[in-house]
Amino acid sequence: MRISKTFKKIVLLGFFVVPLSLGLLQTDADAVRYSGGRSTAINDVWYSDSVSSYGYVSAFDEARFRWNETSSKVNLKRVLSSSGTPDKYYVGVTSIPYRFGYYTPYKLSSSGGYVEANHSDTWAFSNVSIYYNNMERADFKTDEVISNAGHEIGHSIGLDHTPSDGANSIMRSGIQNIGPTTYDITEIRLKRGN
Ligand SMILES: [Zn+2]
Repeated sequence: MRISKTFKKIVLLGFFVVPLSLGLLQTDADAVRYSGGRSTAINDVWYSDSVSSYGYVSAFDEARFRWNETSSKVNLKRVLSSSGTPDKYYVGVTSIPYRFGYYTPYKLSSSGGYVEANHSDTWAFSNVSIYYNNMERADFKTDEVISNAGHEIGHSIGLDHTPSDGANSIMRSGIQNIGPTTYDITEIRLKRGN
């Protein structure tokens, strides 16, 4: 009888705990999109010479194509001039351990120059970087390089990190070898439209 009562308590507890955790997941899901970003994800991108000199043109191309297929409202088109405000893609090195990529958004300042923007700002463009030395050290395979580039591009079009215990997503931190997932497609469509 005691076991039975304990079991009932566990079952009752389950009814409270499960909806609570679902609620938390929904909160997290809402948080994976930045409130700001470029006004549109149909924009030009420019590759620094570093992208070709390190041999990562095809990786950035593939990462870009995969995002372009997620929505008619995402179209990252490569241009050969950095003039204007294309997003700018780089390959570099960093002394920060385990940093494989980074992105920095910029906005127009009141004095007319560009300053680093917050996630809630309207951005003019982003710099997107992946780090050769750390990818080499971690022995990245081609799919991991593409996933890494795609993760940073995901930020540049308005997506925040997916929690590590959340959905399968290119926007999780860490080494992965996936493209935008079903979850990522839903998120970018919620941010940008279908
Ligand atoms: Zn990130």
